[in-house]
Amino acid sequence: MDFDTIILGAGAAGLMCAAHAGGRVLLVDHAKRPGEKIRISGGGRCNFTNTDTGPANFLSDNPHFCKSALARYTPWDFVSLVSEHGIAWHEKTLGQLFCDDSAKQIVAMLTGLCEAAGVRLALETSVERVDHGPEGFTVALTERGRPLSARAPNLVVATGGKSIPKMGATGLGYDIARQFGLAVTDTRPGLVPLTFPEGRFAGLSGLSLPARVTTGHAFDEALLFTHRGLSGPSILQASSYWREGEEIEVNLLPGAAPFDTLRAARPKVGRRSLVRSLDMLLPARLSDHLGEAWGLSGNLADQSDRALQALSDQLTAWRLTPSGSEGYRTAEVTLGGVATYGLDSKTMAAKSLPQLYFIGECVDVTGWLGGYNFQWAWASAMAAAGALRAGDTGAD
Ligand SMILES: Cc1cc2nc3c(=O)[nH]c(=O)nc-3n(C[C@H](O)[C@H](O)[C@H](O)COP(=O)(O)OP(=O)(O)OC[C@H]3O[C@@H](n4cnc5c(N)ncnc54)[C@H](O)[C@@H]3O)c2cc1C
Repeated sequence: MDFDTIILGAGAAGLMCAAHAGGRVLLVDHAKRPGEKIRISGGGRCNFTNTDTGPANFLSDNPHFCKSALARYTPWDFVSLVSEHGIAWHEKTLGQLFCDDSAKQIVAMLTGLCEAAGVRLALETSVERVDHGPEGFTVALTERGRPLSARAPNLVVATGGKSIPKMGATGLGYDIARQFGLAVTDTRPGLVPLTFPEGRFAGLSGLSLPARVTTGHAFDEALLFTHRGLSGPSILQASSYWREGEEIEVNLLPGAAPFDTLRAARPKVGRRSLVRSLDMLLPARLSDHLGEAWGLSGNLADQSDRALQALSDQLTAWRLTPSGSEGYRTAEVTLGGVATYGLDSKTMAAKSLPQLYFIGECVDVTGWLGGYNFQWAWASAMAAAGALRAGDTGAD
């Protein structure tokens, strides 16, 4: 089978690229259905972009690499596409755009565009081997048990990261990069719940409150206590900056002045226990937990200004050392990936082999929580698609 372009991975980036690359395109995926992560994303409503997307919302060894693609395909370009297809959307918070109805609409839009472009979609198809010679790429495939050989001058790798292996994530993209001499940076789970020794927060499981979590970067979003440890958007965000063994700092009262509140209450409700006094600031279950963890005793009236200040400092800078993270099993993304210095930032093509492209999550560009990762998938896919359409080889 001869094509102009073979794309490996029918996820967000692969579908978007296939729909816009032009020419004869073969889109390969070992999954039963395309776009599975889109389907389950954003609680089934897909947080498909973020209107505030900028390079500062991404982690990469080279923070400049994502700039060109993000500037040339903006969140508003994707919003236009979504709106043209009659998909209703809303802003939930912080520039995050979600479908009103279902993430399946985004999958249907992308598969519809691929169909209209005449893309041959090969599902339940595994990639056995990739070779490159004077005639271009030859990819040995097994389609539903049947061996198949596909050839094309261009190959796009869009196989994502290692997150959620149960959904078909593999390290194929990294293997292909290495095969063709490209470097791959260390990979680790990102946007992932942090774990603590068993039972540490068991009594608080299910409790959620606004917090500021700092691990170099500060994130003001909800914090959720779970049976295994800490989760919620603030923790997921912070996890991408956290390294094993490091502390995280939790401000349980961002924007509040607990010292002032407690001192002002002292003359009025001084006979209240210190632990119950915390109920003015926090859910009672958390007051109890902190009372035990920090050994709080006595009544509010017994506390000096200094003691109240120390307590206030603990509440706004609670230092905790996670024992680990939940890992790739639940991580929303994979940090690290194909090293960007081997790729052309305008086309996503390998500098050493310009007919080979890497797009989406397999590249060492990882977004914050909030629609940034899909925006990178769309933008990097469009960068490659533009080069493929133009027959531009991406060479420097
Ligand atoms: C639960 C969850 C919720 C998320 N919610 C959001 C959200 O709301 N907003 C947001 O911006 N981001 C979200 N993300 C992140 C987002 O889904 C990814 O960043 C994005 O899907 C990456 O796109 P991709 O095309 O690079 O990779 P993927 O979408 O992961 O696609 C990769 C494709 O390659 C295929 N593949 C892998 N290995 C092989 C192989 N060996 N052979 C053949 N095919 C292979 C896979 O089956 C898959 O279809 C979420 C992630 C998860 C896990």
